[in-house]
Amino acid sequence: QPITTDMATLTKEVKKFATDKKLEIETLKIREEYRREFLGNVSHELKTPLFTVQGYLSTLLDGAMNDKTIRKKYLERAEKGVERLIYIVKDLDMITKLETGDLNLEYSDFNIVEVVQNVFELLEMRASKKNITLTFDTKYAKPIMVHADQEKIQQVVTNLVVNSIKYGKEGGTTEVSIEDLVKNKVIVRVTDNGEGIQKQHIPRLFERFYRVDKSGARSEGGSGLGLAIVKHIIEGHNERIYVESQHGVGSEFSFTLEKQ
Ligand code: ADP
Repeated sequence: QPITTDMATLTKEVKKFATDKKLEIETLKIREEYRREFLGNVSHELKTPLFTVQGYLSTLLDGAMNDKTIRKKYLERAEKGVERLIYIVKDLDMITKLETGDLNLEYSDFNIVEVVQNVFELLEMRASKKNITLTFDTKYAKPIMVHADQEKIQQVVTNLVVNSIKYGKEGGTTEVSIEDLVKNKVIVRVTDNGEGIQKQHIPRLFERFYRVDKSGARSEGGSGLGLAIVKHIIEGHNERIYVESQHGVGSEFSFTLEKQ
C-alpha cells in the first residue's frame, strides 16, 4: 500500500517540521529573554558608579571646586568611580567572550606557586587596608608545574583572593594552599575567615550578577561577574571548582589543575 505509507511518512515529516520550528522559536525566545536580562543587568551595574561620578563632578562645578581640600577629595572619588567603571567593562568584555565560547585557551607549562606570589604582590596594598594577612605556606619554595592557560589562571586566583579580601573581616587572614589531589592533579585552595555565605546562596553563587548582598550599598564594588568568570575559565579547562562556606566563619573556594 504505497499511498498510505507515503501519507504516513508525510504526516510524520510535517509533524517533525512543526516540532523543529517550535523548538527553534523556543530557542529564539530564550535567547531574546537572556539578551534582555543581560542588558538590564549591565545598565544596572553601570548606573551606580556613573551616578557617583556625576554627583562628585556636579558638586565640584556647583562651587566645591573653590575649596582646595574638597576639590582634591572629590576628584579622587570621581576617579575611583571611573576606575570601577573600567573594571566592570573589562569584566563584561571577558564574560561575553567566555559565554560565546570564545575562550581561546593558550596552554603552557608554568609554576603555579609563582602565579600565587604575583597575585599576592599585586593585592598586598588592598589587603593591608583591611589589615588582612595574605599567607602562602613557605613549603612552596619548590615550583609546582601545571599545564593550563597561565594568564587566565592568574585571573582566577586574583578574583578569588580579591573576594576573600572584600568579604573578609578587618584583621583577618586569606590563605592559599596547593595540594596533590590524584596522581596528575593538584587542588588550589583559597580560604578566608570572613563573613561566609549562607547555605541557600551557594547554588547560585557562580551565576553572573548574582550577589548575596543585593543592596549595592557595599563600598567595595565589584561587577557581580567575578565568580562567573572563574567558573567559565575553570570549566573551560575541564577542571572543577568547589566552594565550602559557613556563615560567620569563612569560605573556601578551590579548583583543580592538571600537573605538567
Ligand atoms: P562581586 O562583584 O559581587 O564580588 P562575585 O561574582 O565575585 O561578584 O561574587 C558573587 C557574590 O558571592 C558576592 O557578591 C558575595 O556575596 C559572594 N562571595 C564571593 N566570594 C565570597 C567570599 N570569599 N566570602 C563571602 N562571600 C563571597
